Amino acid sequence: MRETNPLLETHELPPFERIEASHVEPAIDELLGRSRSAIADIEGVTAPSWANTAEALEALQDALAQAWSPIGHLHGVADSDALRDAYNACLPKLSEFRTELGQNDRLFAAYETLRSSPEYESLPPARQKAINNTLRDFRLSGIDLPKAEQKRFAEVSKRLSELSAKFSENVLDATQAWSKNVTNEIELAGLPDTALGLARQMAQSKGLDGWLLTLDFPLYLPTQQYCDNRDLREEMYTAYVTRASDKGPNAGEFDNGPVMTEIVNLRQELAALLGFANYAEYSLATKMANTPKEVMDFLEELARRSKPAAEREFAEVCAFARDGHGLDTLAPWDLNYYGEKLRLARYDVSQEALRPYFPATHAIQGMFEVANRLYDVTIEQTSGWQVWHPDVRCFDVYRNVSGGSGRELIARFYLDAYAREHKQGGAWMDDCRARRETPQGTQLPVAYLTCNFTSPIGDADALLTHNEVVTLFHEFGHGIHHMFTRVDVAEVSGINGVAWDAVELPSQFMENWCWESEALAFLSSHHETGEPLPDALLCKMLAAKNFQSGMQTIRQLEFALFDFRLHMETAAVDGSRIQSVLDEIRSTVAVVPAAGENRFQHSFGHIFGGGYAAGYYSYKWAEVLSADAFSRFREEGIFNRQTGERFLEEILEVGGSVDAMDMFVAFRGREPDLESLLRQDGIIE
Ligand code: ZN
Repeated sequence: MRETNPLLETHELPPFERIEASHVEPAIDELLGRSRSAIADIEGVTAPSWANTAEALEALQDALAQAWSPIGHLHGVADSDALRDAYNACLPKLSEFRTELGQNDRLFAAYETLRSSPEYESLPPARQKAINNTLRDFRLSGIDLPKAEQKRFAEVSKRLSELSAKFSENVLDATQAWSKNVTNEIELAGLPDTALGLARQMAQSKGLDGWLLTLDFPLYLPTQQYCDNRDLREEMYTAYVTRASDKGPNAGEFDNGPVMTEIVNLRQELAALLGFANYAEYSLATKMANTPKEVMDFLEELARRSKPAAEREFAEVCAFARDGHGLDTLAPWDLNYYGEKLRLARYDVSQEALRPYFPATHAIQGMFEVANRLYDVTIEQTSGWQVWHPDVRCFDVYRNVSGGSGRELIARFYLDAYAREHKQGGAWMDDCRARRETPQGTQLPVAYLTCNFTSPIGDADALLTHNEVVTLFHEFGHGIHHMFTRVDVAEVSGINGVAWDAVELPSQFMENWCWESEALAFLSSHHETGEPLPDALLCKMLAAKNFQSGMQTIRQLEFALFDFRLHMETAAVDGSRIQSVLDEIRSTVAVVPAAGENRFQHSFGHIFGGGYAAGYYSYKWAEVLSADAFSRFREEGIFNRQTGERFLEEILEVGGSVDAMDMFVAFRGREPDLESLLRQDGIIE
């Protein structure tokens, strides 16, 4: 008898309790087969229309997403060897399918016909945007190149993905190649207990006595911040900033130099094949920023405005080290150490001390109350859904119908809040279902909100740090962007199709309410006394929040400018050119002198191993958007219902259906103003 595969059934929500690793590959194979034959049908249509082309393609892609989304999600939150194998086995199949789709001439021709048909003019803007995005993506995959160039494009793309993987491997290997076994605890004086415990555990796992220091961030950072042993700080600093390079303790062994050179040159070639002046221009084809000049002006302006504050902060920490500790010259490995001492001396607010004020259930309810006041929605916990772990909570989201005459279900989400085994670290929001129109009616959006908070002990409620509450709001911000959408074309509904440099707008925006006493009045409640967070404590937290924000901004700008300038190069680069681009940036922007051997670029995974090439600026760009959007609430009241309504309608509901700049201007009445960010970070008054 043929077994049923839950991944091939149609459900409103994924049947998590029935999904087994053994279902994964057969389901994806089956769905890819169905998709290919459906695409053959679409290719065959003689008069392409929205219904027989775009909508048909959306339906088959949605079917695939409905199966793949829970698989990817389980891989992240409830992993097993069998699931990992099944997941990895599907990756190349899906990638092959996407490449096929991106290079399908007949499908491209059908979309072009649709774009120039009389029907196009009569379509709603969201559908027009979906068609245009699809045509753009075809072009960015090299669809309208001559055959020989198309072949070269494919070769370059493939080589680039190999090189990115190689870059990341080198960084990983170089990170793991260095360790230091310390057997005399005096050498580790100053390290907090958590870091000591971790180092002890590392030693034990290798059968060593004492403590094992490694370059993994949870050990590297506390050593730089707290370890009194200056030689040890220097040794680890040097090992860290020379990873995967021609310098330092493992010089030349995992050198990313040649990998980076080849990556940059191939990116130039790829951009040129598609007719772009440089790779930066290619990167911006899918982003909110329009031209490389616009991005460079933005970064340079931000640097110019932040530099005085950064210089002041640097002078402060130098003076603190000199006057308080007799250190005349601050070396790079002293910066975090004295910075942390200065921070503690000024604003001693420990995250642990804040936990009693934030019982999880209360903070989550408080967050829903914020959403209710701003957007007139009601969020209710529900039960009866299939989940992957008993910790998972399920929620229905209702829009209140104006006039108080009732409410309408608009979305659903899962909240998986606590850290546990077999769950990936960090916090993220992911898309389970996209809002779209189907023959059976509107498919509602569904989101996964995943965090890794310290889990509750026994039956008691978990107590969150303030940082954790901020993270919760951040992911919820992504979540409501996905769930509040009114767009019913999957390609551009919710978070889909939103420009990369604008996608963090709603998430960073929502964080603001965690820093407002009017909101904290109901977000916080001492787990024993019920008292809200005292204002005096909040004042300290706010001051600590902006500690050294000028220096942090400058550091981010150094990375962003290096990334962007490097990808504006048009002549072939070699290793020394990459270094000189970085040196040029540093000589104009940096406040803290870099060590001569610093080769941070050799481990800059965002741009060489990940998707941030000519896109690292996005972090600061989106911060400006969110700070400036929030500044309107600052002016009109943080719980002003009308302002909330505008934000909902102009930004959250439109998803990717409106150009990001148009969307921002519609809400703010003007283009983004970077002063809002400088003010938010305390860099200007
Ligand atoms: Zn985010």
